[in-house]
Amino acid sequence: MEPQRNASSNSPAIVSNRSPLRHTNSSITATSLATLRRLLDLSPDAVVVIDQRGAIILANPEASMLFGYAPDQLIDHPLESLLPERLRAGHIRYRNGYLDAPHSRPMGIGLDLVGRRQDGTEFPVDISLRPCLIKGQLYVMAAIRDVSAQREWERERADLLARLRLQGDLINLAHDAILVRDPASRILVWNKGAEELYGWTAQEALGRVTHTLFKTRFPISRTTIEAQLQRDGAWEGELTHTRPDGRVVIVESRQVLVCDAAGQPSAILEINRDVTERRQIEEAEATAQANTLVQLSFLQQLIDALPNGIYVVHGRDARLMLANRAAASTWGAIWEPEQPMEDFLELHGIKLTDAQGQLLTPDTWATLRAVRYGETSLQLQEVIYRPQGDALPVLVNAVPLAFSYWQSLEIGPTSLDSNPAHGFFPGDRTEERSAGEPLALVIHQDVRILKEAEYVKDEFIGLAAHELRTPVAALKGAIGTLLFQTQRGHGPALADWQQEMLDEIDIATDRLTGLTDELLDVTRLQAGQLLLHPAPTDLVALVRRVVSRIQPTTTHHQLDVSIGAAGGRGTRASNEKMIATVDAARIEQVLTNLLTNAIKYSPRGGPIHITLARRNGLGGADDKQVEIQIRDHGLGIPAHQHSLIFGRFMRADNARQSGISGTGLGLYISRGLVEQHGGQIWFESQKGKGTTFFFTLPVAPEA
Ligand code: ADP
Repeated sequence: MEPQRNASSNSPAIVSNRSPLRHTNSSITATSLATLRRLLDLSPDAVVVIDQRGAIILANPEASMLFGYAPDQLIDHPLESLLPERLRAGHIRYRNGYLDAPHSRPMGIGLDLVGRRQDGTEFPVDISLRPCLIKGQLYVMAAIRDVSAQREWERERADLLARLRLQGDLINLAHDAILVRDPASRILVWNKGAEELYGWTAQEALGRVTHTLFKTRFPISRTTIEAQLQRDGAWEGELTHTRPDGRVVIVESRQVLVCDAAGQPSAILEINRDVTERRQIEEAEATAQANTLVQLSFLQQLIDALPNGIYVVHGRDARLMLANRAAASTWGAIWEPEQPMEDFLELHGIKLTDAQGQLLTPDTWATLRAVRYGETSLQLQEVIYRPQGDALPVLVNAVPLAFSYWQSLEIGPTSLDSNPAHGFFPGDRTEERSAGEPLALVIHQDVRILKEAEYVKDEFIGLAAHELRTPVAALKGAIGTLLFQTQRGHGPALADWQQEMLDEIDIATDRLTGLTDELLDVTRLQAGQLLLHPAPTDLVALVRRVVSRIQPTTTHHQLDVSIGAAGGRGTRASNEKMIATVDAARIEQVLTNLLTNAIKYSPRGGPIHITLARRNGLGGADDKQVEIQIRDHGLGIPAHQHSLIFGRFMRADNARQSGISGTGLGLYISRGLVEQHGGQIWFESQKGKGTTFFFTLPVAPEA
């Protein structure tokens, strides 16, 4: 036999062909061949005996069987026939060396030896050698054992150890604390993660009882947890531990019970994950959420306490986002969260009209204008025809909002009172809202009581105006008659001062007539009873006529008319016509009011430009309009009163302070008349710089 690894150096050989025996060794046994044979037959190991030439002289049945030979077939074979071919030459040298210094060599000294069967297959062997003397001759006895099974087992064990080492490394790699404790909770294994999490080294932790070491606070009693471990073999939950530096750590703990072969608990595997930070964040979030809820519920209480209907809508279709209690009673129906405004109104048969009772199309609703065009409407009069059949006059304020205001109001859907009838914040519906979506705040002020009071006032004004008209007309007639008859020589001639006084009375009577007419118009407009008598009218000619009537009333204002395209795209032919079907007298009334205002409120004089221009209406190319502008360079209107100036009896502060007389009715009537014609009226003004009034009227398409 020969060592498998290093065939050429100091591995032991068995037999030398040298003779006679030169070394006397105490381990060399003297025996007879026959005795030896008998002994070998009894050996459970394969044994061969070789002589000094290296030839096998004895092989027990175990040896023949091990190498796949028939009994005695091995006799006289060189020992090297039991070796793989590649090792034979080297082996002969070792055999000789061994015989120079024969000695006993026991099995299991860790040499990787290889045997070869007759069929050529190889197998690992372990060999013990023992020299012996038979009739004075030196022989060597070799006991050979097939160690295939042992090698296999060793390999498996080495694999297993390598795997275990890997797993150990892996366990140390984890950030989680991984520990094993015995049934009495004494720590047996403590990984690097545990060291990091708790701050104790393995040396400090091993053998300590976990709950004492950690000062564990259990979510339920320890005995309950242990009972569950025994019963189910596992437990999971949150534990609070204290580190040696006093810091508290919250861990998510998973524990598994391990039992021995007899089913007795032998250890508990425990993995603890640090969730302290997560819990702290969650706690902070919960506190923030609770605070938000408190603030929102306070906000809700506040807006619920307001008498006005308040709601917030989002998206171009004005879907409801939040509303207060009064909103539900304003509509007389419950507007469901996320329901588009048009659907809501249609579902409940709710109609909206303007103050004159004209049905409003969705595109003109203040709420939709706010979300669709970003338009702000202030104190706009609308009437809600409610499902109950009554009409509720309201003043509407609709203001577009920036989306970001409301993102901060994201709260859970279960929060607060979500009954729309009680007012609500409908909760987290972010998925239905996209960033940058239009948003509007709408406030409905119930003006029923005001309207009723106004109605009574209007009744009185109407009555008074009506009653005044007869005596004023009589007065006018009497003065006319007086002047006329005097001119014709009936009665004595009037002195100059008498003539002047009569003229003044005549002018004052005209003013009185104008005032009563205005008051009557106001009451008619209020009651929706102002009737128009439309006829095709050339607006250009109408404007020129009014201008030439008014120009002589002032010496320090120059009125000029220009015809052009809106936006100042040049002046058009002076003979151009713009035919519109209007009540000419009423449009003349509007023009007169705007022109006399332009004159009145430009006390220092200056030019007054009147421009007529065609433009496209909102509805598209066919929907043509004419836009009339009247621009002065007078007092202007203070910005804070812009939204109020079309109101009844409304006069700007600077107009009053300048001592310019007026009633504050002209613009109110003008707006009523223009809107009744299907047009719009507005203005741009800068205090101290001047004012431009605009109004539009629908006209027939250009010929
Ligand atoms: P009145 O002129 O009789 O006061 P109006 O209804 O015609 O009433 O006008 C309402 C108010 O609007 C005026 O009192 C004045 O304050 C303001 N105003 C109207 N037109 C002009 C203008 N061209 N320039 C400055 N202020 C104007």
